[in-house]
Amino acid sequence: MATRFFFDPPRRPKSKPGPNLKSLLVRCPSTSKLTDTGRTIEANLWPMAKLKTQKVTCAHCGGVHTWTKKDVILGRYQ
Ligand SMILES: [Zn+2]
Repeated sequence: MATRFFFDPPRRPKSKPGPNLKSLLVRCPSTSKLTDTGRTIEANLWPMAKLKTQKVTCAHCGGVHTWTKKDVILGRYQ
């Protein structure tokens, strides 16, 4: 007789982003608020990620800020 499972295996739609997807946030030098760069990355890939200097139009002060990897704060993706 075949082994029966008591529980259904968990099912996850493959179209969903990974559970470890993070938003890349940088701190605005003018307002000290966190600005979403609009970029995302899997948290487990972040330590190996290489980034050139990037630019972001700030939602808080309206200016354009340059940022590199060391400026990034990983935030929860939503
Ligand atoms: Zn700003």
